[in-house]
Amino acid sequence: MQSFALLPRALPPWFRENARQLPWRQDRDPYRVLVSEIMLQQTRVEAVIGYYTRFLEAFPTVEALAAAPEDRLFKLWEGLGYYSRARNLQKAAQAIVRAGAFPSDLRSVRALSGVGPYTAGAICSICFDLPTSAVDGNVLRVAARYTNDATPVDLPAFRRSVAERLEAVYPSGACGEFTQALMELGATVCTPRSPKCADCPLREKCEGFAAGTAAALPVKSPKKEKRLVRKTVFLLWHGDEMALVRRKDSGLLAGMWSFPDVDEPLDAEGALRWAERAGVQPAALLEQTHRTHVFTHIRWEMDAFTILCGAETDAFVWRTPGEIRRSFALPTAFRIFLKETDV
Ligand code: SF4
Repeated sequence: MQSFALLPRALPPWFRENARQLPWRQDRDPYRVLVSEIMLQQTRVEAVIGYYTRFLEAFPTVEALAAAPEDRLFKLWEGLGYYSRARNLQKAAQAIVRAGAFPSDLRSVRALSGVGPYTAGAICSICFDLPTSAVDGNVLRVAARYTNDATPVDLPAFRRSVAERLEAVYPSGACGEFTQALMELGATVCTPRSPKCADCPLREKCEGFAAGTAAALPVKSPKKEKRLVRKTVFLLWHGDEMALVRRKDSGLLAGMWSFPDVDEPLDAEGALRWAERAGVQPAALLEQTHRTHVFTHIRWEMDAFTILCGAETDAFVWRTPGEIRRSFALPTAFRIFLKETDV
């Protein structure tokens, strides 16, 4: 099997010439690297830059993040999705503050909330110059192509094998640069579609390029069907205000604000009966809409009922759409029900 021995010679010089200027590359501060790596999970670099900058303006230190009110944290995270990342990031910050310093070995970094093997490997190599690989989808793709390997890259055994082979060649004293160079190659040259082999520093030794199979790799296992949840969402209006609820502390979107909802499909009559039981005196059903929202493993099919109410109840918080937009971190799954015309 093709070894990775050439990589630490070929990639760092290429990286020095071609690295994109990204805000989190300005220093090796582990707090900043942690924030960027958590934000970059499941999210594109271009989308993260603005969030990262605003987040660090609001919470410039690990202590500031540890002490942040949850609502402020979620508001700054709004639109990035996967809100459990924000909550875990704060838990990690609190653990670091309690410990008195950022941990600097792989095991302790890995023990921080929300930090998986990839993020721990990235932090330890970039910030502490340890030979710890950070194997994400980009790196798996480069490895599969470079070695012309058609093993499904999502198999844990493949990931382990890539991590071990990389760690065997990590260049002492330049571990962080090597990690970043590999990531950068996957993100900008060895891209998912149409790899730019003509610009690649690995081209001469790349077996996928030589065999003409690069574009057909990597292979992935067939996808599992997402679990379908049929929901009913209640857009309850009283005057110019809408009802919001705080979601329970566990499960998807735990602790976030949302419109009231139930995990069952109701028809119009059922929705009005629900509103009646909720004590809001439904006076008229104004509209019924349908929306789909897809999470990593779950698909929500949502029927939403816009209901004019004759009364408010303390079970909900009532705010105008403008106030909701400004002051509440409403997850996208619910934000899609706010109309441009509602102010
Ligand atoms: S030569 Fe092409 S396939 Fe091989 S690593 Fe470079 S970009 Fe990827």
